[in-house]
Amino acid sequence: MSDRVPLTGEPLALDLVNTRPSTGDLLATPADLRAWLALQADRLPGETHETAELTATDLAAVRAVREHTAAAIACARRGERPPASALDGLNRAQHAAPAVKELSWNGTTTVAVRRRTGPAGVRLAAWLAEAAADLLADPAIGRVRRCEAEDCVMLFLPAHPRRRWCAADRCGNRARVARYYRRHKTG
Ligand SMILES: [Zn+2]
Repeated sequence: MSDRVPLTGEPLALDLVNTRPSTGDLLATPADLRAWLALQADRLPGETHETAELTATDLAAVRAVREHTAAAIACARRGERPPASALDGLNRAQHAAPAVKELSWNGTTTVAVRRRTGPAGVRLAAWLAEAAADLLADPAIGRVRRCEAEDCVMLFLPAHPRRRWCAADRCGNRARVARYYRRHKTG
């Protein structure tokens, strides 16, 4: 698996933090962000799929949310108090595009859909900040782990307590190969 392919499938807030592996930044351009959003399409509200208009400013807003999320998770997963600046940053990102339950009639029944107001990039940053809030306030945050591979900074929430790698086909294999060579060099 290429290091340029973002990992997905962890809680959204972890997937976001994991776009910053030790090998570089996978959200370096608005095009990178569009590609990442396409991977996450089923986990974000429909309104965030209008991604054609994303700009460098929108990317900066998402990256700011990512930094605050990373800083807060690094502490919270150890049971420590997150930096106030990180929590403030996540709160501000949500305030910038408040959510309302918008009512409409679909022909047979009244439906309520949560929507955010504001420019597309600001709304996107707000949804991502909300995903971070959900994870930070979840007791599961204490189970978030960092991949055991030496040079890997990926975070994951193990479904199984024995899980050690962010991805078996990425770090799991590399670790097995490294162990093999160590054994055969010394033995
Ligand atoms: Zn890893």
